[in-house]
Amino acid sequence: MTPEEFRVAGHALIDWIADHRARVPELPVAAQVRPGEVRAALPSTAPESPEDFAAVLADLDRVVVPGVTQTQHPGFYGWFPSNASLASVLGDIASGGVGALGITWQSAPALTEVEQVVTDWLRDLCGLSPEWKGAIQDTASTACLVAMLAARERASGGSEHRGGLQALDAPLIAYTSPHAHSSVPKAVLLAGYGADNLRYVDVDPVTYAMDPEALRRAMAADVAAGRVPAVVVAAVGTTGTTAMDPVRAIVDVAREHGAWVHVDAAMAGSAMLLPEMRHLFDGADDADSISWNPHKWMGTVLDTSLLYVRDVDHLVSVMSTTPSYLRAGTDDEVVQYKDWGIPLGRRFRALKLWFHLRLDGVEAIRERLRRDLENARWLAEQVEAERGWRVLAPVSLQTVCLVHEPEGLTGDALDAHTLAWMDAANATGRVFLGASQLDGRWMVRVSVGAEATERADVEELWALLREVVATTR
Ligand code: PLP
Repeated sequence: MTPEEFRVAGHALIDWIADHRARVPELPVAAQVRPGEVRAALPSTAPESPEDFAAVLADLDRVVVPGVTQTQHPGFYGWFPSNASLASVLGDIASGGVGALGITWQSAPALTEVEQVVTDWLRDLCGLSPEWKGAIQDTASTACLVAMLAARERASGGSEHRGGLQALDAPLIAYTSPHAHSSVPKAVLLAGYGADNLRYVDVDPVTYAMDPEALRRAMAADVAAGRVPAVVVAAVGTTGTTAMDPVRAIVDVAREHGAWVHVDAAMAGSAMLLPEMRHLFDGADDADSISWNPHKWMGTVLDTSLLYVRDVDHLVSVMSTTPSYLRAGTDDEVVQYKDWGIPLGRRFRALKLWFHLRLDGVEAIRERLRRDLENARWLAEQVEAERGWRVLAPVSLQTVCLVHEPEGLTGDALDAHTLAWMDAANATGRVFLGASQLDGRWMVRVSVGAEATERADVEELWALLREVVATTR
């Protein structure tokens, strides 16, 4: 494709994106395909000769759009907000267009330095102190794995040693909440701690936040048995209920044993942009690493996960490689992001954040987050005030966990009712909700925060929920 051909196709693509976004509210929210349907709609071999761009665009409408859950829809309340602000979409296109090779500072100095600038901007916007340095990872799962590796090396004798799993005879122990995201146990396993060395610390039965005294007891028991407390992952905004583990108390306990504290704020971290919500993150500034995903609630299109660490030298000494073919004369003067994580090559993801922040502006982003917090509070109030409905967990941010309990219905029958009314609501195509288990029973999670969701949409949701429970009994 020549630049001139690209110009024509590119204009058509931008028109397609703009038209698509304008009509998202008219589409059913859930993906409309059966397993295998998308594959079956496509040829089994690649084209030998070029096709018309119009045919490719037509297939976006015919095959791709029905095969996508419309997370940009005002009725999307599933999993977590997965906003893809159009400003950041432009940054994504620019990132591909620049065509930079991000392997070292020398291969694309702008890629490194724009990333330094935007991660510093976001650190300051979140009220974290300047000692924190950040890099963009693909996801919070990767960020957690990087933190687990850094913690492992610190606990096993210091980074210069690079002793890895074999460095100590005593097992290294990791601690987290039973409500932590599944990426936490995965990272713990991948970093080699072993499933038997992961402790799920008790949580408060009402708030579902980690009990720091239980953490203290668990660590003391491990030390008494000759094991080494190495790392705690504080779930700040758990996936199920958005419970906020008390970071300050966790840091205090962890410090007694020199354990690393990683704060997983993948979804909730966007709330740090709001000064009035920062009390929920109290103590995070004293942790060792923090990750959060602008690609969730804040709305920079996937994949832009931030990982901040306090001790960059330690991270670099764990992750660095110095092959001769990457050597350059400026190596001593520059940041080499290849040494801050796992991959060598990196995309110019910083452009997505840069475009998003510059084109939308921070104040508009903050206002949207505040709107979502108020909408979630409003919904929770309606649910609490309505007979037969219950909010199951504190609404610390924008997630409302609820259940409808008709008189006399308990146990498995209540679970069946919960899943049935949620499925019925989703089948209307007007909303998309998710279910999850809490204390062994099913509940429905309403995760408010799609960029397009206004109060009127939440009011419509609440009316719909009352309708569907009446018809699914
Ligand atoms: N941590 C928490 C608290 C989450 O809610 C999620 C996603 O739902 C993740 C981690 C994983 O995020 P990612 O998809 O960026 O790996």
